[in-house]
Amino acid sequence: MNCLFCKIVTKQIPSENIYEDGSSLAFLDIHPKARGHTLIIPKTHAENILDISPESLQALILTIQKVTGILHASLNPAGFTIGINHGKGAGQEVDHLHVHVIPRFKGDGGGNINMVVSNPSTEPISATAQLIRQKKA
Ligand code: 5GP
Ligand code: ZN
Repeated sequence: MNCLFCKIVTKQIPSENIYEDGSSLAFLDIHPKARGHTLIIPKTHAENILDISPESLQALILTIQKVTGILHASLNPAGFTIGINHGKGAGQEVDHLHVHVIPRFKGDGGGNINMVVSNPSTEPISATAQLIRQKKA
């Protein structure tokens, strides 16, 4: 498969790895938004969280916890922004699930995750909730 991050897993493309276990890999983003900006991926290809096995996803989440702890201990940031761009509409550029862990430092000019989008609905949230509950998978 012609996938950039699969090639990082198989070392066909070099990466600055900071943590690895049987099912996940963490490496530094090539265009870091902050010192220590890390991407965490499952080693087995999955496009997004709807496309990954529950076992791999559990392992991935534990790796996020581990890596966040490692970054906290090594870089001592003021906080972290942790997130996934899911789908082209949300800005996902690499079609292999990856979780961004971005260390946050005082005065870094960033905002919180609620600032990524500003598109509130005019519908009351009770109506939205009712619709979602009816249609849930
Ligand atoms: P997305 O928008 O898909 O969530 O972000 C993809 C991320 O992958 C970007 O932050 C980008 O800088 C990073 N990236 C793209 N190509 C490479 C690469 O070859 N190596 C590494 N380490 N990061 C990459
Ligand atoms: Zn892949």
